[in-house]
Amino acid sequence: MLSRRHPWIFSGAVAGGMEAADNGAVVIVVSSAGNYLATGHFQKSSIAVRLLSFSDPAIDQAFYENRIQSAVDFRKNVGLEPKDKDTNCFRLINGEGDGLPGLIADFYNGLIVLQYHSYGMHRQREFIETAFAEVMGKSAHGIIGFVQGLDIVGINDNQPQDQFNQGDGQEVTETGIKYLINPFKGQKTGFFLDQRDNRVLLRQMSQGMRVLNTFSYTGGFSLNALKGGAMEVVSVDSSSYASEMCKINEQVNGFSGENHEIVTGDVFEFLKEDPREFNVVILDPPAFAKSRKKSHNAVQAYKRLNREGLKKVKKGGFLITFSCSQVIASQLFEDTIRAAAIECGRPAKIIKRLGPGTDHPVSVFHPEGHYLKGLLVHLDG
Ligand code: SAH
Repeated sequence: MLSRRHPWIFSGAVAGGMEAADNGAVVIVVSSAGNYLATGHFQKSSIAVRLLSFSDPAIDQAFYENRIQSAVDFRKNVGLEPKDKDTNCFRLINGEGDGLPGLIADFYNGLIVLQYHSYGMHRQREFIETAFAEVMGKSAHGIIGFVQGLDIVGINDNQPQDQFNQGDGQEVTETGIKYLINPFKGQKTGFFLDQRDNRVLLRQMSQGMRVLNTFSYTGGFSLNALKGGAMEVVSVDSSSYASEMCKINEQVNGFSGENHEIVTGDVFEFLKEDPREFNVVILDPPAFAKSRKKSHNAVQAYKRLNREGLKKVKKGGFLITFSCSQVIASQLFEDTIRAAAIECGRPAKIIKRLGPGTDHPVSVFHPEGHYLKGLLVHLDG
């Protein structure tokens, strides 16, 4: 496993030494002959070590500064810069993809929102937050840290751990569209940055179209459809917070709202009960499978959702469909969409395979990192 540079070591692969290690400690992994192999964060879980380095055993502030700096540098090369006028929000650190397993950092127009997914990262938060402040300098005005999925006494998921600066929200611009982000009330770090390119794709397809955006959250796809000249947009989300934010974002961008209907309700029910058909239907549900054990049920749910979604597409129209379940691989997702198209008896063509933008790198050694997959499907009958 180690020679293949996969960033995780499972507990079953460790011969000894785990009893003595603290949850979240920096540990050195050695071969049975006692030779240095790698350095990582230990955790009392099935993933016993999340590897940080195969060469440098010192995991200190300088280590984090180096990793963050190289993440910032390559993003600049692909056109993502903190001070850009058109897009001032992007993912700054994408866990394993940026060589920092257990850490997510999103940049929101100067506000850095961190998610600590491992005890190791959380324990080193002082190094990490100081390293961000050093690397980002004046282009960052605040850092907020949240823990995610960790059992830390007194701290719940999505409750800020450290805060240099806590505002009520933050206005960001993504490809020329403004959004209000609230990391304290919103999902994940506040916004789904991974859909940027796909929202632009929808914008390019929207002129004169009737668009249904399901699982619309704060309106990312909907506002792009409106900007692209859609005739009508319907947004559906079960969260009233999401609907409120969607309305606010519509207003912040100066859209009249006349041709935008925001429905607070269940998507499955909407698809069953609303009789309308659309030129473009977007399905961007939350992850249906949180673990491999749940993947069978998830496949059934994706099939059902896509079958109902396909029925809503007018002849000659499009379905834009996603899965963000890590355990549903691209091929399985495609097979599921095929099964849905068979069930609803419509000729469907894949026009494009979709994924996240360039700020969501995936380590070639860690294919599990490719969680977001999507398809642009054309229905010519
Ligand atoms: N497409 C969005 C992100 C979607 S996140 C974007 O571009 O920003 C998933 C959303 O699905 C969340 O807002 C959540 O509230 C909503 N949701 C989850 N289950 C739902 C259901 N059964 N019906 C309607 N919305 C649901």
